[in-house]
Amino acid sequence: MLLSFGLWFFGSILLGTNLFGVQQKTALVCGGGGFIGYHLVNKYKEEGYWVRGVDLKEPEFGPIYADEFLIADLRDPVAAKKAVFLEKGSFDEVCQLAANMGGMGFLAYHDAEIMHDSALINLNVLEECRKTGVKKVFYSSSACIYPLRNQLDPENPKCSEDSAYPADPDTEYGWEKLFSERLYLSYMRDYGMDVRIMRFHNVFGPQETWEGGREKAPAALCRKIAEAKEGDEIQIWGKGDQTRSFLFIDECLEGIRRLMLAPVRPPILNLGSEEKISINDLALLIAKIAGKQVYLKNVPGPEGVRGRNSDNAKIQEVLHWQPTASLESGLRKLYPWVLQQVEGKR
Ligand code: NAD
Repeated sequence: MLLSFGLWFFGSILLGTNLFGVQQKTALVCGGGGFIGYHLVNKYKEEGYWVRGVDLKEPEFGPIYADEFLIADLRDPVAAKKAVFLEKGSFDEVCQLAANMGGMGFLAYHDAEIMHDSALINLNVLEECRKTGVKKVFYSSSACIYPLRNQLDPENPKCSEDSAYPADPDTEYGWEKLFSERLYLSYMRDYGMDVRIMRFHNVFGPQETWEGGREKAPAALCRKIAEAKEGDEIQIWGKGDQTRSFLFIDECLEGIRRLMLAPVRPPILNLGSEEKISINDLALLIAKIAGKQVYLKNVPGPEGVRGRNSDNAKIQEVLHWQPTASLESGLRKLYPWVLQQVEGKR
């Protein structure tokens, strides 16, 4: 009995089939050592895919679940070729999430590096996908592509997909994302590739960067509050009335998978929450979750646009779904994780 199970198990691995003899689907996650990529690798594994992750680094906060994990610099075309190459056939799905990125504290001061690195990664990966006949390619764009003029009022930002042009993103990071959106769309038109693009709006959750300069507002504020003593002051960049919405990682993954599995090729979609909050209120909400009283001190610092929120009309229309989890429910999962990291460093 045990022997026949063993033969069946190892036989299916050798044949590239799952345990029921069905050909196993394959996925490549570029940026698989990063926050969203790490979770996406796990999601694909749960769904039964054979998965390769590729990144400059291994995941920082958890074990590797990918069947294969390559350390590679995708700015190098030879490395990109190896990353996309499969011995037999081509990947069913490639998700391109690798980027040189971070929160406002990073984006505001690294224009050349961001444009150079991320453009090269996208050029190399997409070209290899074309050459090897990848079936479906996902590209992670960003809400940062939206024009500055529509994000001047914290209470009334406009970020519907059709408002992207005439283009005027406030950061070079946004311009690179816009360039790469157009690159993927060009490959779709000229080579008939199946390309799917989403504009993420501030994704957060456990395993995101929480220190070191690349962290974003939710994790940075969780860290500041976790490190604060009762009654301490914590610093908030800008006036703190700037607004954003934040999407919990589980719903980000669900949105990606729904888009990838959609039977028709949908247009570019926002993937975000519509629950807008000011940065001051975000800090106070985290303090409430932490059960600590802290005082906010608004200091000069890079704060980005005045207001930004997801507009989910299109995703609802196309995928008949939109994120619904509350911000508080997500923060109740992020805060204890960041607290654990902070305490682990003490
Ligand atoms: P992340 O920084 O955690 O992950 C990106 C990964 O890309 C990192 O692990 C990094 O090492 C890797 N990388 C960078 N340069 C590379 C190179 N030359 N070769 C190979 N790998 C390289 O970021 P994330 O939050 O997981 O974001 C994933 C994607 O989603 C990015 O493209 C990002 O721009 C996009 N996005 C994220 C958010 C968000 O709120 N997290 C919002 C909008 C868009």
